[in-house]
Amino acid sequence: MVEPPMERTDADWKSTLTEQQFDVLRGCGTEPPFQNEYWNCHDAGMYLCAGCGEELFSSKDKFDSGTGWPSYTKPASEKVVTENEDDSWMQRRTEVKCARCGGHLGHVFPDGPGKGGMRYCINSAALRLRRN
Ligand SMILES: [Zn+2]
Repeated sequence: MVEPPMERTDADWKSTLTEQQFDVLRGCGTEPPFQNEYWNCHDAGMYLCAGCGEELFSSKDKFDSGTGWPSYTKPASEKVVTENEDDSWMQRRTEVKCARCGGHLGHVFPDGPGKGGMRYCINSAALRLRRN
């Protein structure tokens, strides 16, 4: 399900997100590796956007990347994320955002397993797992 983009102010977001969720989703922050909720989670379910509830990643596509962040081979649907070049961190990376609310999720790298060859490296703070 993809709904139209959401228009919200920072104050709106601050009232609904935790400080860490706000820092990641709205401030493009990065949480520490191995000290976040889902990096080592193997429960079955759908990972939703912590900002808007969009279905972003399936546990079926999650794999152990060794990076300390939850990692996926692909999003639940191509339409639910947007990808943009990001030159802000000394190297070129591709930023991944939620298509619906514009929240920053993490980055995608072309070194993943599987036939797509992609690794979506996502902050746990941007996600909320709906267990099956
Ligand atoms: Zn969202």
